Amino acid sequence: MDSLWDFPDFDAHERVLFVTDRESGLRAIIAIHSTHLGPGAGGTRFWHYARTGDAVADALRLSRGMSYKNAMAGLPMGGGKAVILADEARTKTPEMLAAYGRAVDGLGGAYVTAEDVGITVADLVEVAKQTRYVSGLPAAEGQAGGDPGPFTAYGVFLGVKAAVRRKLGKDSLAGLHIALQGAGSVASGLARRAAAEGAKLSIADIDTVKARRLADEVGGAVVAPEAIMMLEADVFSPCALGAILTEQSIAALKAPIVAGAANNQLATAADGDRIHARGILYAPDYVINAGGIINVASEYFGQGDEASVNAKIEQIPARLEQIWDESAASGRNPAEVADAMAQKLIGRA
Ligand code: NAD
Repeated sequence: MDSLWDFPDFDAHERVLFVTDRESGLRAIIAIHSTHLGPGAGGTRFWHYARTGDAVADALRLSRGMSYKNAMAGLPMGGGKAVILADEARTKTPEMLAAYGRAVDGLGGAYVTAEDVGITVADLVEVAKQTRYVSGLPAAEGQAGGDPGPFTAYGVFLGVKAAVRRKLGKDSLAGLHIALQGAGSVASGLARRAAAEGAKLSIADIDTVKARRLADEVGGAVVAPEAIMMLEADVFSPCALGAILTEQSIAALKAPIVAGAANNQLATAADGDRIHARGILYAPDYVINAGGIINVASEYFGQGDEASVNAKIEQIPARLEQIWDESAASGRNPAEVADAMAQKLIGRA
């Protein structure tokens, strides 16, 4: 690899910032893919990467994903994403978050941050002491803002229902079996809503305590992480990490629907064709998981109460339908159809 420009995921990023703060030990990457529609907006991931190259690839893929997601959600925002490279012990200090906040501030609003895996509302409160380019902060009761997880979960729940309607011809999740990968923020919200509608849940998380707690709460079963994708289920819902849909895992899938919150679920573009060729209905990740960013955007622009945020989230099923319709008409897989729609919206068709 000669330079960053040659990275397979670089895709003409407008800016990529590498941050080192020796005093706090912060190492971070802030990637801004596109500001065509507005400030590059997307969360910060706090994660331990085995190799720094993995962190760069993650930041770039997630950032481009945010460009597409924000565009498809109809938001006046471009796409960006940041990763903080955690050590093995995942040491996180206020000084580190302050240094990170100063780095975000230095971009002058070209990048607006929020939560992602490993970053909490409390962490963002620390970041916000250094910069105003933060969203996902605690909100007043009934106002847009706060943890985007429950809003993402609401959109994913509606998206799962849309997929079930289309593929299985059912209006309710009652009696259906959902295999849930992850027992974190979004997975929990989805599990509660699905269980309330009568779905049966199988849940896997590498953190077995979390999986057990959620399963007990929703009356579900705990499944080993390595078994969850191969379960006989009506829906496989990836709500943990990305790149889980590979040639091998797609071949082993038994569920007729894949619909979940995780970003960048397809390991490669070819996997979009593979899943389509198997007749599995796929809900493009950045379309179904836009609920959180819809809430974050409403908070950032100081617009809207929870009801108006929910009304925007309730448009997610119609967007999925549009994608699936075009996929059925053209024969192209849903991920490819969504990408083409998004590229047009950000001026890169
Ligand atoms: P979270 O950190 O609350 O939960 C993720 C869970 O996945 C954790 O419990 C973790 O232990 C588990 N996990 C990690 N690797 C696993 C594996 N191999 N098998 C099973 N479980 C594993 O994160 P979250 O906020 O619920 O987000 C979940 C996914 O959805 C992420 O990919 C995130 O990027 C994406 N997403 C989240 C939001 C949001 O609003 N929170 C919005 C859009 C997309």
